[in-house]
Amino acid sequence: MGSITTKDGDGAVTTIRANCPSCGDVQLTADDLTVRVCADDERGSYCFRCPECLGAVAKEASRRIVDLLVSSGVRMQVWRLPAELSESRVGAPLTPDDLLDFHLLLTSDSWFEQLATEVRRSLNR
Ligand SMILES: [Zn+2]
Repeated sequence: MGSITTKDGDGAVTTIRANCPSCGDVQLTADDLTVRVCADDERGSYCFRCPECLGAVAKEASRRIVDLLVSSGVRMQVWRLPAELSESRVGAPLTPDDLLDFHLLLTSDSWFEQLATEVRRSLNR
């Protein structure tokens, strides 16, 4: 993880050395990287496209690395976990049979009404 180092170049350009799994250490500038921080749990990561093999590289980043990269001029994106994660789940998990039933249900014109009736019935159980 902690394979990021930065070095101030001659001008205003900071060289950032990061590690590509295929190529090893590669030299980047702030524009080449993106830092992503999750607003919900504050986990950080950074990603870049390797200048040598053009592969996409993404790594977890500690707070220290995030601060280091942001202070070097790397743009930061804040993202949120999908809202689905906090939804409450009731009932048994779907099975392949359920999926097949649903598929067949969708072939009828009144599928929505039938589905609504089923849902109402299951909630009143
Ligand atoms: Zn590479």
